Amino acid sequence: MTPIQYIPCFECDLCGTRYPSGPSRCHYLDESTEPPRKMPVTGAAAWCNVEGTVVVAERLMSLEQIDSMIPPRGSNEACDLAPPSRAEIAYVGMLRELVERRTSPARCLGCGTLDFQYLDAPGGAPLAVVHPRCGGVVRNIGLHMVEWEAPVVYYSTEGVRLSEPSAATRAILVDLGDEDC
Ligand SMILES: [Zn+2]
Ligand SMILES: [Zn+2]
Repeated sequence: MTPIQYIPCFECDLCGTRYPSGPSRCHYLDESTEPPRKMPVTGAAAWCNVEGTVVVAERLMSLEQIDSMIPPRGSNEACDLAPPSRAEIAYVGMLRELVERRTSPARCLGCGTLDFQYLDAPGGAPLAVVHPRCGGVVRNIGLHMVEWEAPVVYYSTEGVRLSEPSAATRAILVDLGDEDC
């Protein structure tokens, strides 16, 4: 049975065309390590100028943004919070490593192009993206319920979609768990 999910939906305010933005189960696959490592992808809804639709595009965070995810020990913020878990520290460490290593700009996770526009700013404020077909504005109209089984997709750490990982790699990934994250 296809699972029911709530996903962000976008609509053109002039012609009414709707674009659900599918949640993706995307991972980077770092094949420079033995065994290969899965690393987290941070993405955001965007208008892809090549595909002519709403997609999820990479949103590469700055080191400052990443470091602010875990307040430094002794700061006022840290006093009120539980200390970060090992999983959180590992997650933030991987985000840092990805950004430090990255040499190319963010890509559309659908087709790999650099030619896209985000539909919202990093803080969540909507950005006006013009619908090329009619000149209207594509806006977020909230979450919509859909039947959707998001495929698991792997990318290189430069954001290039990989062909299917080998069976051996897949077995390792299943071993690592969280195939559904
Ligand atoms: Zn339109
Ligand atoms: Zn695209």
